[in-house]
Amino acid sequence: MPENAKDTSCDLFVIGAGSGGVRASRIAASLGAKVIVAEGLYLGGTCVNVGCVPKKLYVYGSEFSKAFKDAEGFGWTVGKPSFDWPTLRDNKSREIARLNAIYERLLDDSGATVLTGMARLLGPNTVEVNGVTYTARKILLATGSWPTKPDFPGNEHAITSNDIFDLVTFPRRLLIVGGGYIATEFAGIFNGLGSQVTQLYRGDLFMRGFDHDIRTFVAGEIRKTGVDLRFNTNIESLAPVSNGLEATLNDGSRLVADSVLCATGRHPNIEGLGIESTRVSLDSRGYVNADGQFQTDEPSIYALGDMTGGPQLTPVAIAQAMAFAQSQFGHHKNTMDYDFIPTAVFSQPNIGTVGLTEEQAIDRGLDIAIYSSEFKPMKHTLSGRDERTLMKLVVDKPSDRVIGLHMVGPDAGEICQGMAVAMKAGATKHHFDSTVGIHPTAAEEFVTMRTPSR
Ligand code: FAD
Ligand code: NDP
Repeated sequence: MPENAKDTSCDLFVIGAGSGGVRASRIAASLGAKVIVAEGLYLGGTCVNVGCVPKKLYVYGSEFSKAFKDAEGFGWTVGKPSFDWPTLRDNKSREIARLNAIYERLLDDSGATVLTGMARLLGPNTVEVNGVTYTARKILLATGSWPTKPDFPGNEHAITSNDIFDLVTFPRRLLIVGGGYIATEFAGIFNGLGSQVTQLYRGDLFMRGFDHDIRTFVAGEIRKTGVDLRFNTNIESLAPVSNGLEATLNDGSRLVADSVLCATGRHPNIEGLGIESTRVSLDSRGYVNADGQFQTDEPSIYALGDMTGGPQLTPVAIAQAMAFAQSQFGHHKNTMDYDFIPTAVFSQPNIGTVGLTEEQAIDRGLDIAIYSSEFKPMKHTLSGRDERTLMKLVVDKPSDRVIGLHMVGPDAGEICQGMAVAMKAGATKHHFDSTVGIHPTAAEEFVTMRTPSR
């Protein structure tokens, strides 16, 4: 904690040391700015502590159950596998602690001062942390988002993604409410780890915003894995009973589970932030209004990441932070380009996507051709696993550019990252066709689809 008045003033005060805040602090400090950053909960933010990182470790952990079964078709005899939740949970926690320390070192090495505590705005240039007032030429809000629980009787018994990573007892029966990224990823994780998983989605078809063919296809594949995926179904109330938690659903049926996870979206994390003491304004959904240079309606205050209502993805928060720090403390103005942001859902099987869905392209009045291919991955010809892959391209006919690329299948996230580079560079269908495939891979299918399916 700075001890004299001089140490309580800075060029940039960053509130929140998550994906965006850490990157902005480090880059601004490396460009010569005097930076103070305050973090109230955990260094590295949501992604490192209760998001991307522990989630992906759990995905890896959960995939072994299928791999043990697959191995038999290749001649292996595997004894009856057993799974120990505390081992996975505690190994995960050790890895997160290691990453927390790395983040601390990175910030220290950059020259930024790190404060531990919740920060509160007192005005356009003043922030309070642990009773000390700091003054800053500029303030960056990077406080992220927080899970939203629907309002139903007994919702206090339901958990969110903040809680699920560290459950004391493994849930043998897990009920998941929601049909987005988190719900679908955790359905795969706990199904793979051995839970009996029921996933409820309130509408006709989950994964809203993704390509319709992908949503339909992945629903079928997920059901094959054993998840009880129900559409047009929602939770109405929850109550403790002798053998668990009893959920009453909107169709009148009841279901008993050991844990109920609400994965029903997130809201900006601004409670207690003191924005009312400034001119910072919010949009109709409650997100902080910030312009293309991340400036809020209070000129000295900037905001980025999840709290500003764009794509809630770590690489987006990081790219915004790079653009912010370079613009404010470097020698050139930089903006964030939101075209062709790739994303993956680490469901089982994965979804990977870049660019426009077929529906978005049609809504924009584009003249498009669709190429698609569905097949059984080579590995499963021997493993016997009943899992299929879908790949799909959306091509703008007049320019021949590939404007949408979608996949359901193993390693879709890995495959789509490379494809995103080509699409960002303006790749046409002709470029895809003239690229030699890597054989035998699933990804080669993207360069061998010759006949439009419509
Ligand atoms: P955060 O990383 O959340 O950082 C905000 C920080 O601010 C937090 O550390 C918080 O404690 C701190 N803070 C808040 N208020 C204050 C205050 N008043 N004073 C001091 N500190 C404060 N994205 C991906 O790209 N890939 C994934 O696979 C992925 N998986 C996810 C899985 C889950 C379960 C969740 C919940 C999210 C996942 N995300 C994923 C999304 C990703 O985590 C977020 O988009 C990203 O962390 C946003 O970064 P941020 O900097 O805006 O906020
Ligand atoms: P999403 O917005 O992805 O999904 C929320 C889901 O909850 C939707 O299916 C939504 O339905 C449903 N829902 C919302 N309100 C209610 C309600 N009151 N009752 C029942 N269902 C409801 O949010 P998540 O919480 O899954 O994840 C938050 C964000 O974090 C994601 O959007 C993503 O940006 C990021 N993330 C990224 C990951 C990755 O990159 N792999 C992984 C995990 C999270 P409807 O569609 O009808 O509105």
